[in-house]
Amino acid sequence: MTISNLQNEFKGKGTDSESLERIEKTASELQAEEIWGKFLEIFRLNVSELKFKTWFRPIKAKSFNNNTLIILVPSADFYDIIISRFGDLVSKAKKLIIGEEASLIYEIDETINEKLSSPPEEIEQSSFLNKAPHVYDLPVKNKLNNNNDSLQNERQPSIYRPALFLKTEYTFENFVKGKNNEFATAAAFSISNRPGAQYNPLLIYGGVGLGKTHLVQAIGNHIKSNSPASNIMYTSGPEFTTSFVQSIRTNKTHDFERFYKSLDILIVDDIQFLQGKSSTQEIFFQIFNSLYQIKKQIVLSCDKPPHQLEALEERLITRFQWGLTVDIQPPDLETRIAILMKKCEAENVIIDYEILEFIALNIKDNIRSLEGCLKNIIFESEMYRTPISLDMAKRSVVKYGYSRNRKQNLDISTIITEVSKFYDIDESLLRLKSKRQEIVLARHTAMYLCKELTDCSLQTIGAHFGGRNHATVIHACKCIEDNIMNEPSFGEKIETLKENLLTS
Ligand code: ADP
Ligand code: MG
Repeated sequence: MTISNLQNEFKGKGTDSESLERIEKTASELQAEEIWGKFLEIFRLNVSELKFKTWFRPIKAKSFNNNTLIILVPSADFYDIIISRFGDLVSKAKKLIIGEEASLIYEIDETINEKLSSPPEEIEQSSFLNKAPHVYDLPVKNKLNNNNDSLQNERQPSIYRPALFLKTEYTFENFVKGKNNEFATAAAFSISNRPGAQYNPLLIYGGVGLGKTHLVQAIGNHIKSNSPASNIMYTSGPEFTTSFVQSIRTNKTHDFERFYKSLDILIVDDIQFLQGKSSTQEIFFQIFNSLYQIKKQIVLSCDKPPHQLEALEERLITRFQWGLTVDIQPPDLETRIAILMKKCEAENVIIDYEILEFIALNIKDNIRSLEGCLKNIIFESEMYRTPISLDMAKRSVVKYGYSRNRKQNLDISTIITEVSKFYDIDESLLRLKSKRQEIVLARHTAMYLCKELTDCSLQTIGAHFGGRNHATVIHACKCIEDNIMNEPSFGEKIETLKENLLTS
């Protein structure tokens, strides 16, 4: 039911003024929720999941009246963080959704705190939720126009306007160059300085979390700072598709096309999502040709080389290959450590080299996980006011590294077989009670890998090793973890074993 329906329905029934007031309040709340929902969509697309859960989900919409959206935050400190860390994003979203002239007012509602149900580890910095009441107003230029009815039509973002923004931290300066991304970085930097002049389009491909988005956005940021007047659009395959579908629904395909054809720089992240969507591919083809002809730079990213995109039209694949196609590979150990150091610098923390090395040794093929693991450690240290330790790193690595590497059908017997082969020991010996040193090490390794790579309980794991109990499994895991920490070459061995198991 729409808000005006709701109001009319009550007015029609001749309700007394008190009830009407109550209903109008509900209508304003509903409208506020609807509008805030659009803000949330934008935040979700532009910040990490953890930040979204911590900083945006707790905010509640209170009302929308007289062109003013009131939102509730749990504390004054919480407000400060929102403004200092996400102020830019919030203003952009506000401009897009309710317009520059509308007001966004923050009010403190401490009861939000009680209503929060997220488990503590999901909250980035929960200590900020408990502070004294205040009311804040974002600076606004003019307050005007309280015609609520027009809101739906007039202030909804135009379908072709960006819902994704360039993140200011995604720059070339913040991007660590390594052998894995050397060529891609050089190409990206080169086109940033001479957009449209050489490699067009530039297509960067590579696996998840390897820096594609960072690099394509660095191009956008670089061009934006060199020529602020450039008309740059950063979007993604899914976002492009959704906007296009919306433009069909609202009879605005012409506007959509005109908007895209008027750009100086078009960046489309994750073009693999255009697969199987023939009308989106058609419009993209038109836009591509138009921009290409007038030498406007096109930058694309993809999770695989374009010729492997099965449900993409041949003519698009051919066009993608007209320019330069470069790949990003998983980073080597040195680059992973360098990335961690760079992130420490950005977060302004100093962490022992051996801790960084430990993380880098254990999280190999996804920089997002590497970064997540580091942030988790920093957060834990800030939250509990304890220095960063190897133990913390171990816990975090388990959360961000191994847990993501589980393979559905890997079972205990397969692990035992693989480990016995690796150590060249008879399988049955692992299951017996032999205390020979090399057998104990192999048994511990197998138990450890069972814990890391399967979802089996400690009891079940113990049962497969001659009926041992869960405490023995915990002890085995601890021994292996200590060995990994004390001896990097042992860590490498365990990694090799793990890789063999996960890729077998
Ligand atoms: P992808 O788009 O390939 O999935 P992202 O660009 O989102 O990966 O990268 C994931 C995270 O890793 C981002 O926070 C990004 O800043 C970081 N990252 C990736 N590569 C590098 C690098 N070479 N130097 C610094 N940070 C990096
Ligand atoms: Mg990406």
